[in-house]
Parts: sequence; C-alpha cells; structure tokens
Amino acid sequence: FNNVSAPIRQLHRIYDDMNDAMIYAEGYFDILEADSEIEPNGHHAPSTTNGTFELRNVDFSYPNSVKTLQGIDMRIESGKTTALVGLSGAGKSTIINLLCKFYLPQGGEILLDGINLNDYDNGALREKIGLVLQRNHIFKGSIEDNIRYGKIEASFEEVQEAARKAYLHEQIMELKEGYAHDATLLSGGQQQRIAIARLFLKNPPIIFLDEPTASLDAIATEQIKNSLDAIQKNRTVVIISHSLSQILDADYIYVLKKGEVVESGTHDSLMDVKGTYREIFDASARSLNLEKLVQSYKDEK
Ligand code: ATP
Repeated sequence: FNNVSAPIRQLHRIYDDMNDAMIYAEGYFDILEADSEIEPNGHHAPSTTNGTFELRNVDFSYPNSVKTLQGIDMRIESGKTTALVGLSGAGKSTIINLLCKFYLPQGGEILLDGINLNDYDNGALREKIGLVLQRNHIFKGSIEDNIRYGKIEASFEEVQEAARKAYLHEQIMELKEGYAHDATLLSGGQQQRIAIARLFLKNPPIIFLDEPTASLDAIATEQIKNSLDAIQKNRTVVIISHSLSQILDADYIYVLKKGEVVESGTHDSLMDVKGTYREIFDASARSLNLEKLVQSYKDEK
C-alpha cells in the first residue's frame, strides 16, 4: 500500500505546486489580459497624456441593474486633484470604473485629452493610470512580485524603494521569508500598502484613489498621506475619501447624490452653499470631534 501511496502523494504534491503556479500565472494573466476584454478596444495609444478628462451627459447602469449614474457632466483637470464626495452608493467608485474603461457608459461620452475613451487602446490607457482601491488585486505569489506588478521590469532595489515609500519595507523585513512571503497572507492594510507601493513604482501621470487609506490605522494613514501628497503633485488625481483632510486638499470637488452631480466647486464655495456637501462635512467634523472628545476623556482618566 505504501508503495502505491508514496507516488500518489508525490503526484499530489506536484499537482499542488502546479496548481499554485497556475493560479499565480492566472493572476498575472487576469490583470494583463483584462485590458483586451472591453470592446471597443481602439487604436489610440499616445506616448504621453495631458490627463484632462471630460464627462458629457454620461448615463450608466451595471448589467441587470437600475440606473447608477445619470446625466453626469464633469471636468477633471490635468495636474489637479479632484475629489468625489457623496454618501455610500452615490456612484463615486462607478465613475472611477468608467474612467478606467472597465465599463462603457450607455449614454453620453467620456473624453481624455479630447479623445473618446472608446478610441483608446485599453492597455495604453491603463498604462497611464495608477489605482489604489478599497480592495486591491493581490495575486498568489511573493510580496516582491506583487509590488513589481506596478512595473514588471523593475529591479529588486526599485521594488524595495517603493515598499519604503509605502511604509511597508520594515514590516516585510520582520517576516521570516521577507519579500518572498505570500502576499495573499498579508492583512488588509498591508495589502493596501502593496497597492500604494505599486503606485510609486509605476509613477503614472493619472492617479485614482478610492479610499486609499481605508484599511489603515491612524499612524499608517498619517505616514502614507505624506507620501501620497508628494506623488499627487502635478498629476491628474481623482480621490474618493471619507477623510476630511484629503478632501480639503483637493482643488475641486464634485458632490454626488443618487447617481447625479448635485453640487461642485471648491471647499469654501461649497460650504457657502449650505447644501449636501456642507451636511456631509459637518457630520464628519462632528464625528471627528467626538473621537477627540473620547480621546481627551481617556487621557484625563
Ligand atoms: P461607497 O462610498 O459605498 O463606495 P459609491 O458612491 O462609491 O459608494 P458605487 O460603488 O459607485 O457607490 O455604487 C453605486 C451603485 O451601483 C450602488 O447602488 C451599488 O450597489 C451599485 N453597484 C456597484 N458596483 C456594482 C456592480 N459591479 N454590479 C451591480 N451594481 C453595482
């Protein structure tokens, strides 16, 4: 029996290894090949981009779903930070999905540098974009390879440098396997830092940040905010955040409600309007003050 089971066990082990390798390869395949999935995949593939987006009367619904966005008009200026604000489900992340051409609008049009996104080569478009999302695509494989996904040809030194900027390097060094550690075993916050490290490595002209510090603790958020501030300068940035300080830093703000833009302007002008933005801002400020109150109470005890 033993004679039979040994080769079977060995086969199993080989099969497991193969399976790991396949998942690993699929991980890469998924990410790289996803580019060609959306039709039309156009031919426009400029080497540089100004990074100005324009949404004109954009309507969108997810497949088999009710209307998610309606009549969206928006201008996202080159080299500036634009914030999207709104309650949960307002359609903020959906706008980022459309700007990445992960979905196509059913009505209206989206232009980048005056050219319809439909005419862009999907791969060339996404090459210009860096993404940090609430949940990021981490594939089975080493931390090193996961960070390198930001720039496949990067050297190990470059990978380490990016991890330092994302305040991840020290934590990696504490792992027994270091950069060879399986990235899928990291915590949510650490995985988010992998996405941030990829961003530093990729160094793209357009950056979309969807709650980039959502799964980080207060200290990590502060550290990463400094690094993100540095990388945001002179690039086109769209940020969705519940963090007031990240919104306050934005050059322009669009306020969404149930799939429509209800207000837009600078922080000061929106505060004057005394509408949805002011309501959201005041409520966030109150909860922040509450946190401070609780902290000072704890400090006193
Ligand atoms: P949050 O602040 O909670 O992230 P949001 O403003 O970013 O919210 P979206 O994620 O854009 O909102 O979602 C807008 C609407 O579209 C919601 O009603 C949501 O349930 C729906 N939705 C989002 N993604 C999908 C999807 N893949 N398929 C179907 N419906 C979706």
